[in-house]
Amino acid sequence: MSRFWTEELWRLGLGLLATLVAWVLFGEFFLFATLFLGLYVVRLLLRLRALERWLSGGARRDPPEATGIWGEIFHQIYLLQRRSLKRQRKLTAVVNRFQEATSAMPDAAVVLGSNDEIQWFNDAAGLLLGLNWASDRGQRIDNLVRFPGFIEFLRHHKAGESVLMPSADQGGTLSVRIVPYGNDQQLLIARDVSQQQRLDQMRQDFVANVSHELRTPLTVVSGCAETLIEDCDEHTEGWRRPLTLIQQQSARMLNIIQDLLLLSTLETDRSGPPREPVAVAAMLASITEDARILSGEKGHTIRLEADPELDIYGVESQLHSAFNNLVSNAVRYTPKGGEITLRWYCDEQGAHFEVSDTGPGIPEEHIPRLTERFYRVDVGRSRQSGGTGLGLAIVKHVLSRYRSQLRVESACGHGSTFACDFSPDWVVPAAGEAPQVARGGHTPPVRA
Ligand code: ADP
Repeated sequence: MSRFWTEELWRLGLGLLATLVAWVLFGEFFLFATLFLGLYVVRLLLRLRALERWLSGGARRDPPEATGIWGEIFHQIYLLQRRSLKRQRKLTAVVNRFQEATSAMPDAAVVLGSNDEIQWFNDAAGLLLGLNWASDRGQRIDNLVRFPGFIEFLRHHKAGESVLMPSADQGGTLSVRIVPYGNDQQLLIARDVSQQQRLDQMRQDFVANVSHELRTPLTVVSGCAETLIEDCDEHTEGWRRPLTLIQQQSARMLNIIQDLLLLSTLETDRSGPPREPVAVAAMLASITEDARILSGEKGHTIRLEADPELDIYGVESQLHSAFNNLVSNAVRYTPKGGEITLRWYCDEQGAHFEVSDTGPGIPEEHIPRLTERFYRVDVGRSRQSGGTGLGLAIVKHVLSRYRSQLRVESACGHGSTFACDFSPDWVVPAAGEAPQVARGGHTPPVRA
């Protein structure tokens, strides 16, 4: 028991003793007992009144004078109050520092509530998104930022995705991301990417212009070399080999230039694939025929398993280019006598094109980088087989227009599977079927 409680109990005990002594000396027990208890209650009430006045004043001044247990109670409350004030000051300093930091941030940050209503935003958000602190707080963000791509993104965004939209500040471009946190809250971050976009545009224009400028001279060099080879006789036979080399290398450069131009077209065309139905099975039949010719002496077994009724919306030339790249890779990298299987089928997840081969496979660490331009697992083998190093980059760009990604499954020595997955939205509904509904469970018929 604390010292103060012992003192208080002593005080009570002494009072009771005095009451007993008075009773023995003067009789009248109830009179003295009532007097003692009355005095005790009055003292208690006076202390409570002092406490109440002190607390209602915010307990900021020194505590009321008191001894014993009451003095201790006042002292403990005073200490608690001091500690809480200190914590409050620290918190205010942290909030101030946070606000200063977010104000200095060049990126816009907006805190959104469960109904996408604006709860807080920093200075940059005011500038880049055109928000006004006085009038826009509490408003839904899609009532203020009306760009259609942004509204669509706000409703259907997935983790890690971002959207580009015009900035409210001098016609720049913003890249917007939304990160969920806490209790149904979201943090919207918008970054000005105008400069980066200008640089990207300059790079794309440069590559497109250089490729375009080189195409004509290279075609001339290649054509001349071919004519000279044809005109070789016994006097100029020594020229045949260097001329053949010139012709082969200029043809290789022309292939690279063609791929670079295709990539540049894919990058600059932002219109999205038109919703023209493409008869994929027929296209794959022609790609398979070309693959058999390319395979030539390597004698691969090339199988096509395609659903003849499964069509998708898109651009035929781009799909042809993507699928053909995957198939020609399989032919070029699969050794003599190997097997290559092309599958085109549909399930609940949408339409799928897969190319599997029994080639050498690809070590795991290379797989994430395969779609980078000029990335090759084995540079020598790629050049020797006539590769430009741009095939999978083209596939990636074509697929991005269908909001799809290239799926690669491969293991060293166990062949590879390259797959393109198209969501059900791209599947052309069969006659009598509701539009944009996935057709499930098709088993691909075999077409040797
Ligand atoms: P390339 O013109 O060099 O083939 P790609 O972009 O088409 O360029 O392919 C990138 C690299 O991926 C290739 O250099 C090759 O190393 C690897 N690759 C692609 N397809 C296959 C495959 N079917 N089997 C093994 N490796 C492959």
